[in-house]
Amino acid sequence: MTRRTIKEEGEGSALRVGAAGAKGRGVFAARRIELGDLVWDYAGEEKWIKGIPKRLWRYCFQVDYDKYVVPEKGSTGWFMNHSCEPNCVIMGRTRIVALRRIEAGEEVTFDYSTNVGWEGYSMRCECGTKGCRKVVRSYAFLPDELKGHYGACVSAFLLGPSSPSGDRARPATAS
Ligand SMILES: [Zn+2]
Repeated sequence: MTRRTIKEEGEGSALRVGAAGAKGRGVFAARRIELGDLVWDYAGEEKWIKGIPKRLWRYCFQVDYDKYVVPEKGSTGWFMNHSCEPNCVIMGRTRIVALRRIEAGEEVTFDYSTNVGWEGYSMRCECGTKGCRKVVRSYAFLPDELKGHYGACVSAFLLGPSSPSGDRARPATAS
């Protein structure tokens, strides 16, 4: 359960943006963050993928099969990196919540595969963890073991009907 909201305390005091090696910039804990703390909320204007310039796609947070939030440029949401062994998970539609205690100085991460429903997605991973999958793909490609590990702590839309109705922005899959 979420006990505290970091944003309400002033995001500047809990999180900072800094250099994250091969990944470019990332988001780091500026002080200890406790299990269950709300670290970030991607809630914002939800746009069709077709309405978002391609150069921004890598920064987008997916909220439905055809809807994305573009974080404010330079914000925490803009810079939050993926890890194959993350210390945060997604809860509900937009919330990033601490999966364990995070000490000051640790990079704050979540697993992009628990956010992406577009099956054409592929990103080379630089997370450097022992369990690194090397290539990050959509939720559908996550091994069952990891799906079980994350349980319901993935983007809510991924747990809904697998065949969304309406005009989908993602390409149709061949099989
Ligand atoms: Zn990785």
